[in-house]
Amino acid sequence: MSSCLHKNNKRAIQVTDKYLRNKRYSCLFPGCNETAIQSHAIQRASCAEALATNGVVYSLQQSYNMAIKNNSATDPLHVVKVGINDASVFKGFCPAHDTMLFAPAEAPPMGKNDGMYISLHLRALALEYCRKRRHADFLRKMAGFIVNPEGRQSYLSVADMHDRFCSNFMALYLGSTFNIILGSSIDSIEYFVINFSQNLLVSCCGCFNVEPDEFESVVAYNLISYSEGSLLVLTVFKAVERFLDAFLENYNQPQRIEQLVNDIAFFRCEEPLISPRLWLSLNDEERLAVRRSLRHPDYRDEIEAPRIIKLTKADSEQFAVPKVLARTPHYTAIMNDLGKLVCPNKL
Ligand SMILES: [Zn+2]
Repeated sequence: MSSCLHKNNKRAIQVTDKYLRNKRYSCLFPGCNETAIQSHAIQRASCAEALATNGVVYSLQQSYNMAIKNNSATDPLHVVKVGINDASVFKGFCPAHDTMLFAPAEAPPMGKNDGMYISLHLRALALEYCRKRRHADFLRKMAGFIVNPEGRQSYLSVADMHDRFCSNFMALYLGSTFNIILGSSIDSIEYFVINFSQNLLVSCCGCFNVEPDEFESVVAYNLISYSEGSLLVLTVFKAVERFLDAFLENYNQPQRIEQLVNDIAFFRCEEPLISPRLWLSLNDEERLAVRRSLRHPDYRDEIEAPRIIKLTKADSEQFAVPKVLARTPHYTAIMNDLGKLVCPNKL
């Protein structure tokens, strides 16, 4: 993104950023036209309790103004203080659907249930969709400031590309997830979960392609730190579970679990929320390694994340490897229960 932008566009970026912050979006839930509020990709309460100091965490700046600071897309990204009210938010759902869809994801670490996994899956997909949609809107608005017709057209072409991505993503991913929630048994969600006994001081949510050129290969992740433990959840549609299995093959030894956590937090994730207690404990070299690792995959040389998060020996070795990879299937009957919660009013 930032490769397209030049400091001369500073004013245009600031105006566009403000336009996007105020732009109205409708709720993504099928059939609902209510205005979307700012949903939290990371539960605000756990963020406040497990991560924040004086109401702030460290993350990438959640605005396009960040692009102004960088000369090139290959520059390390800026990790800055972010208030927890603004951390990892997206305009996805109206208040009613936000509550109904994501309440199961807010279960405490010891209260996990199948509804929680489908809810986490939806949240990661919705966040990704809203990011891409926002980026398309950003480019389209920016194009209006470009005088040169060729330059303007190149912005619009990239915006169109993101729009097509969003349409496909809505049909294939969000649509399928809504169908599951509403009771369809055509597909289901597979999950892989690890409990950690310590607060890892980082939370993040999103999804990534296991195979860069395979649209079907999307795996969703939620790393959630609590005051007395942490949870890593990877989810995928059952129809394409082979991609999750292929991804986990890279971590098929107990000593690789620590790398897996760091890769999710700093290599796969675009904007992890990092506790000041962790960020401020890092030396300059470690911080630079994180900032470099968080760059867009097209602009970085790293093949995995720096090992910033350190697991205890017990957490690293808690699983015999075959057990780690033995995932529990997710049953659609439980999703039907969630569907009953969600359906009544809006359809
Ligand atoms: Zn709604």
